[in-house]
Amino acid sequence: MTGDAVTLGTPLTPTATRAMLLGSGELGKEVAIELMRLGVEVIAVDRYDGAPAMHVAHRSHVVDMLDADALRAVIVSERPHLVIPEIEAIATDVLLEVEAEGDTRIVPTARATRLTMDREGIRRLAAEELGLPTSPYEFVSSRGDFGAAVERLGTPCVVKPVMSSSGKGQSVVRSPEDMDDAWAYAVEGGRAGGERVIVEGFVDFDYEITLLTVRHAGGTTFLSPVGHVQEDGDYRESWQPQAMSDAALAEAERIAGAVTESLGGWGVFGVELFVKGDEVLFSEVSPRPHDTGLVTLVSQDLSEFALHARAILGLPVGPQPLRGPSASCAVLAEGSGVPVFSGVDKALGVAGADLRLFGKPRVDGRRRVAVTVARGDDVKHARLRAKAAAAALHIDLAP
Ligand code: AMP
Repeated sequence: MTGDAVTLGTPLTPTATRAMLLGSGELGKEVAIELMRLGVEVIAVDRYDGAPAMHVAHRSHVVDMLDADALRAVIVSERPHLVIPEIEAIATDVLLEVEAEGDTRIVPTARATRLTMDREGIRRLAAEELGLPTSPYEFVSSRGDFGAAVERLGTPCVVKPVMSSSGKGQSVVRSPEDMDDAWAYAVEGGRAGGERVIVEGFVDFDYEITLLTVRHAGGTTFLSPVGHVQEDGDYRESWQPQAMSDAALAEAERIAGAVTESLGGWGVFGVELFVKGDEVLFSEVSPRPHDTGLVTLVSQDLSEFALHARAILGLPVGPQPLRGPSASCAVLAEGSGVPVFSGVDKALGVAGADLRLFGKPRVDGRRRVAVTVARGDDVKHARLRAKAAAAALHIDLAP
């Protein structure tokens, strides 16, 4: 990978183009498969053994990625050309140092991984530096300040730990009596043990979208907006296309263009936006493929994962027209044990449906273990098919 002409070597030889995934979940697994198809040598890292992307990588390492020394050691030992963060919980100082040393590119940039690792960095960039419209918000670090913030913002409002994902620690304060529970839940759900939370005015949106935005050597490409529904702050269903007014789409692209340009680098970004009428508010952005974008596994010739692989390698990304209305449905397992799937035949018997079983080694609590995807005559039809396929799957948890 040098200069303008892209050169790719052969894996497991000194010529290899080496890519290290930091985080090896189901999204990383799809990225790994796409990189493998291009002859990239893939090294999967996660904090537990048997993570999905490890199943399809050349090598893997079990490392606590919040441990700066351990993270630096694995990067030094593997000397990757590309480091591809898949999760937010990473010692991003190490990524800034590694990038500055010059031999390894951080995807999309070390600064982007730094700013998006917690809600505060990215919200302040979007709202205060770039002047993009967002919900009203305050950051607080104590129960006292929290109460004052809720009073100023009014109820209902949404409370989230600054560092958390999949809705952990997130709740809605509907009246002042909810405050103690919301505070305790947010502090308990935060990742790095801190007490810092964001309190946001509740947005009564008509619908929410992820605008998948690809920054690549030839410019910026917006994919067809992904509509989705969330439960408990976690994605359940997504679809393309999402009907939008021309004005809302133009505003969504303006916001996504501005925030991704500021973060810089090459790759897919998932820009999350709330839409009410023609008004669009920025919510957050992932500098990587997004879970709601799993629908692109069937909706487009090149999925968000294939596009990420292409973009980060400096390869061309053309326009991505939809194949047709498509939907995805997350499949969750709850309990303790090793997932065993039955009804896969029935699920795949649903016309137009496909699925991915992630291969997660264990479930403890509630965890996404598979996704179904489907095309249909229209979005409603595609959603029905994806949901029917998900309902046909049965998951036992073996000891
Ligand atoms: P987040 O983790 O910030 O992406 O939030 C997860 C989901 O919670 C979003 O996709 C929304 O469905 C909902 N949500 C988050 N913030 C707000 C808000 N300020 N107003 C209304 N709903 C919200």
